[in-house]
Amino acid sequence: MKKQYLMTPGPTPVPPEALLSMARPIIHHRTRQFKNILKEAIEGLKYVMQTENDVFIFTSSGTGAMESAVSNVLSPGDKALVVKGGKFGERWEKIAQSYGIEVIPIDCEWGKSVDPAAIKAKLKQGKDIRAVYTTLCETSTGVVNDIEAIGKIVSKTQAILIVDAISGLGAVEFKTDGWGVDIAIAGSQKGLMIPPGLAFVSITKKAWKLVEEAKSPCYYFSYKQAKKSADKTDTPWTPAVSLVIALVETLKIIKAETIEATLQRHKKMAGAVRAAVLGLGLKLLAHDTPSDAVTAIELPKSIDGSELIKTMRDKYGVSIAGGQEKLKGKICRIATMGFMTEFDVIVAISCLEIVLKEMGYSVEFGTGVRAAQEALFSV
Ligand SMILES: *Cc1c(COP(=O)(O)O)cnc(C)c1O
Repeated sequence: MKKQYLMTPGPTPVPPEALLSMARPIIHHRTRQFKNILKEAIEGLKYVMQTENDVFIFTSSGTGAMESAVSNVLSPGDKALVVKGGKFGERWEKIAQSYGIEVIPIDCEWGKSVDPAAIKAKLKQGKDIRAVYTTLCETSTGVVNDIEAIGKIVSKTQAILIVDAISGLGAVEFKTDGWGVDIAIAGSQKGLMIPPGLAFVSITKKAWKLVEEAKSPCYYFSYKQAKKSADKTDTPWTPAVSLVIALVETLKIIKAETIEATLQRHKKMAGAVRAAVLGLGLKLLAHDTPSDAVTAIELPKSIDGSELIKTMRDKYGVSIAGGQEKLKGKICRIATMGFMTEFDVIVAISCLEIVLKEMGYSVEFGTGVRAAQEALFSV
């Protein structure tokens, strides 16, 4: 027998209420019944995203919504600032370049958050920069960026601010309206606790002006089409009905807990992971600005990260993530995201200790677990 524990930064575990809701017979989407569900989903999303703006639901993984935030607002040859610093920041660059956008990169060391002053300086030099693309939690490095500070800078300019909040939403503080985020992007399989397949976008009036002028090719993800339908509580194309139904269930869970308490729980869990890591004599990749959604752990040189992940998953049933691209084999990442509690952290740390020891790293059993328990439960 094997029991699986999913502690990866997407997909994340799905609560039973949501799983069961997806087992119900399918309903048609052009019905009063589904309209009510869609309305509840949008209202719940606005609560979690902390916005009064339009919110659209797309049937795609998060990257589809990222692409929509390029194709709907820019034209070939337009200039955009892109904050790099990890795999997902680099994805913005690749998407923008594929639409012929002139990308002005802001390079930032992997493991460090972006310096908002660097964005300010570039915007000062380039009055014709139309958009700034950045990431709330850079999932590949475990960094959280200071979107509030970036928002203060960008909102004073002609440019719009687009934030990939796919892994951060529901895990770390994020105030779409309060921080001046023009387009916020979220996804289903992270903090929102449902399976992969939905993506979410919120958009301000300032960004709508760009939508009116943009000339990039755009059809399936058209904001104009989405808005026309949304005004009638509808979607332009067949939505992933079962996923929207499940989303209503997980949004109810967040509402019942309250967004503030949800974020507090994440803070506590991630704090415990960090305490455990340091307790085990390991280092945090994002030591200055760690995110509460995922913790990236630097592994000792003697440990092959890919082997560690594989053993934890295949031998013990505990799935965590490895490093991506240049961090492959060098780090592991433990998510504290969505449907997780204190005891998921204890499981992950305990398993990490066991496998590190099996692989020859000197560990006294319980060192990391104790540090986590103290962070979680000491009064
Ligand atoms: C997971 C993730 C994405 C989206 O990935 P998809 O596989 O397209 O859902 C984008 N950005 C960040 C920061 C993520 O964590």
